[in-house]
Amino acid sequence: MSNLYDIRDPAFRTLIQINASLMTLSTGHLWTEGPVWVPAHQCLYFSDIPNQRIHRWTPDGEVTMFRDRSDFANGNTLDAQGRLITCQHGTRSVVRTEPDGSLTTLADSYEGKRLNSPNDVVEKSDGTVWFTDPTYGIMSNYEGYAATPEQAARCVFRLHPDTGALVAVAAGFNQPNGLAFSLDEKTLYVAESGRSHDPDVPAVLRAFDVTADNTLTNQRDFAQIEPGIPDGLRVDRRGNIWVSSADSVQCFAPGGQMLGRIRVPEVVSNLAFGGPRGTHLFITATSSVYALHVNAMC
Ligand code: MG
Repeated sequence: MSNLYDIRDPAFRTLIQINASLMTLSTGHLWTEGPVWVPAHQCLYFSDIPNQRIHRWTPDGEVTMFRDRSDFANGNTLDAQGRLITCQHGTRSVVRTEPDGSLTTLADSYEGKRLNSPNDVVEKSDGTVWFTDPTYGIMSNYEGYAATPEQAARCVFRLHPDTGALVAVAAGFNQPNGLAFSLDEKTLYVAESGRSHDPDVPAVLRAFDVTADNTLTNQRDFAQIEPGIPDGLRVDRRGNIWVSSADSVQCFAPGGQMLGRIRVPEVVSNLAFGGPRGTHLFITATSSVYALHVNAMC
């Protein structure tokens, strides 16, 4: 067998397609991020943050431009209506793409001060939008525009997109990054990626209980991630958590034990499930986008 898989638990074999190999879908980018499969259009969107582009991959192998001058777009998700929601470093905002292509700003400030640089975003089934606000996009002019943070903390926020009401639900992060809900939405997982710039920050995936009134309690460390840092993550149909690291996509059972890893030849930033038959695991990793056929969503 190839060196692709690092199987730590027999259960991992049921989640992967053992004879599959890693496919390179696109390369030559600077820093890919924000993969999201769009069922209505049967395509994958992904961001190239420093090049300020969102690209579109279709299963015929074509890669075309979806949005040029994307304001350093980073994380993407779809809302219940299938509209694209995007974190933009350049505008330090979370925006929604309307059916006519126009952009609606959903959030760009908190308590009268500009956000740092929204990084990644998910929607809960009740329509609230949850996103992280680390400072990566204002640290330099590479992934945004250098600026001094106005926010006192780097928070996880909950947004009500109809009212614009914004609530800081977690403020104890050095740099909050990717996030995902458990299947029952009673747990929120959030990546702490602050070790990217501070070796004293633990590279951990944190978990919180989500209360009935949409606050977070019972913060705990769910998993240590190494090498590198956790960035993006997704939850599969069985509730397993798939998270990026420097050399692989790592898969953890809901109880926290590692089931296995998929080795990737570049530093991984994020991932997404999708594809025409739901068998693709899309992986954004530094200059490239990869895909691997898996069984995790079957
Ligand atoms: Mg991220």
